[in-house]
Amino acid sequence: MLGPRVLIVEDDADLRGVLGRGLREEGFEVETVSTGHEALERVDHVGPDVIVIDIGLPDTDGRDLCQAMRARGVQTPVLFLTARDALVDRIAGFDAGGDDYVAKPFALVEVVARLQALVRRGGTEAAVEAVGLRLDPVTHSVSASGVEVPLTPTEFRLLARLLSRPGEAVRRRDLVRAGWPHGAIVRENTLDAYVARLRRKLRELEAPPEIGTVHGVGYRLQ
Ligand code: CA
Repeated sequence: MLGPRVLIVEDDADLRGVLGRGLREEGFEVETVSTGHEALERVDHVGPDVIVIDIGLPDTDGRDLCQAMRARGVQTPVLFLTARDALVDRIAGFDAGGDDYVAKPFALVEVVARLQALVRRGGTEAAVEAVGLRLDPVTHSVSASGVEVPLTPTEFRLLARLLSRPGEAVRRRDLVRAGWPHGAIVRENTLDAYVARLRRKLRELEAPPEIGTVHGVGYRLQ
């Protein structure tokens, strides 16, 4: 049986080799490239289940590469490798449509665990339907009455969390846990900014539900 397919985008040859060998030993089918340009050329052909992107690439910023892939309809989960462990980089990574990150230097076992989690999440998210909305985990979109609006993976997970308890207040802490990887530091206004974007996107649907603010608690789909 073939293992999950991973595309590694990393310009450091030593690191690329270590990652490639390590992930093959863990049962992954590995394809490696060293630039953003090659990644864009190869991604459709490889059809990966998960993508590892180094943020510091020679020809582009890995976050821009991720956004370019998302814009081309690639919804594959992305794990960023970053040498810079700064908060601002983590947040920017998620804004760019990434799903998780590890900071260099990292232990191979950590990369393996995170990739396996991303593959599992990608494979088991079933379509969710509630209050007239349909969430599609493959396209990360929300639709109602035939109108479809694309979401980022984080927006998708936040809306899915709200949809899991329509009409009930969902605490801010629970939304952050749903939307961001374990241990990520998410500022208060980052969650608010995501909710504001979700509200705008929902308004593109016909007779959409509203995301109400429950002061001091969190948000509620109503
Ligand atoms: Ca690099």
